[in-house]
Amino acid sequence: MTKSELLNSQTHFNFEASLEFARSMDEQDELKEFRQEFILPSKLRGKNGESCVYLAGNSLGLEPKRTREYINEELEDWADLGVEGHFHARHPWLPYHEFVTEMSARVVGALPSEVVVMNTLTANLHLMMVSFYRPEGKRVKIAIEKGAFPSDQYAVASQLNFHGFSVEKHLLEFTPRPGEDTLRIEDMLKLIEENKDELALIVLGNVNYLTGQAFDVETLVQAAHKAGIVFGLNLAHGAGNLLLKLHDWQVDFAVWCSYKYLNAGPGGLAGCFVHERHGQSFDLPRFAGWWGHNKANRFKMPDRFEPLPGAEGWQLSNPPIFQLAALRASLEIFDRAGMARIRAKGDKLTGFMEFLLQEIAAQAAPGYLSIITPAGAANRGSQLSLRFQGGKGILDKFKDEGVVCDFREPDVIRATPAPLYCSFEDVFRFAEVVRRFAAEGK
Ligand SMILES: *Cc1c(COP(=O)(O)O)cnc(C)c1O
Repeated sequence: MTKSELLNSQTHFNFEASLEFARSMDEQDELKEFRQEFILPSKLRGKNGESCVYLAGNSLGLEPKRTREYINEELEDWADLGVEGHFHARHPWLPYHEFVTEMSARVVGALPSEVVVMNTLTANLHLMMVSFYRPEGKRVKIAIEKGAFPSDQYAVASQLNFHGFSVEKHLLEFTPRPGEDTLRIEDMLKLIEENKDELALIVLGNVNYLTGQAFDVETLVQAAHKAGIVFGLNLAHGAGNLLLKLHDWQVDFAVWCSYKYLNAGPGGLAGCFVHERHGQSFDLPRFAGWWGHNKANRFKMPDRFEPLPGAEGWQLSNPPIFQLAALRASLEIFDRAGMARIRAKGDKLTGFMEFLLQEIAAQAAPGYLSIITPAGAANRGSQLSLRFQGGKGILDKFKDEGVVCDFREPDVIRATPAPLYCSFEDVFRFAEVVRRFAAEGK
């Protein structure tokens, strides 16, 4: 058995490397009609006019067709109603963020009271650390994954500094073994165990933006909590991608952006999760603003802050309605499709991509192509991180063929068949381009 046959059998899909097979998978796909809900970028065509294979939804998701309509509705209501739109718009602006709460909660596996959409991801990460990074006595350290997204590293380092600590002495990193790209759970648990009296907080990116690795969150949370360590997640690459159960897993807090898998548009609003058990912890320090204040008397303009229970109590400002409208348009699609079906299709699509690429890699010159992302549906979402011998240069060659991927330093090409708008035929087309490049030694 070749390695790809073995993996193919492990994931229980019987893939075949043919266009007919890809098309038959598309025909059987329960979610196939959702592709029609999105606009494929018309200007990102191949040099012969081919329509684009969009594999960059991990970076910026595509525009749902209904987004324009939803934003236009708010522009019209603003024109027609002015300030009265806060109460009399078709979707009144005053409670507007509540229209996306339940749908967001379903995406991340949370209770509605545990979720709020506000600000941007890094801002929310800071707000969460203000409340949940509480260094005390010996317990002052933070652990993140080595090579975490730079914004996370900066945020964590600045929080350490803010409390008078340093990256050098007080930051721990989950690090792959020499010669390996991804983390082993036993090593992660070991780091927690060995530092159980000194760690105050763990923040993990799930999935990791560079490697596409997904972690066994439940096991890690249990180990952290057993040692008295707070556990937070950055779900920039997890929300709308992984099947998440933040409430059941007992995660303390989580943050995510909505412009990647959640298709809410560039700079879209971020989400924030605070577990129910912290929702009434009004003694936690927090940086406050009027939108986090008790709704019943917010407009009486009281001078003492009285936080709302649940995640809403961390809000600062009245939110940008156009961005919320865009998020609402996209989340309605997620709600109809359902995360379980989205992930199930994603496992097949990504498994198909892996199957095709492994076959190509096995036939190509040694070292031409390798897959960094771990095998197995439990260890990843939709993204495959790839290493090509040609490095970054291959990205432009893909673009000439109408294939849109992205690149992250130092040498990683990320290819993500987002299940709501990518097809098996897209994946096959991508693989055929790689097959041709491999044969031509590009
Ligand atoms: C995309 C991403 C961010 C981006 O942060 P913003 O505040 O939305 O600019 C942060 N962290 C991770 C892990 C990301 O993937």
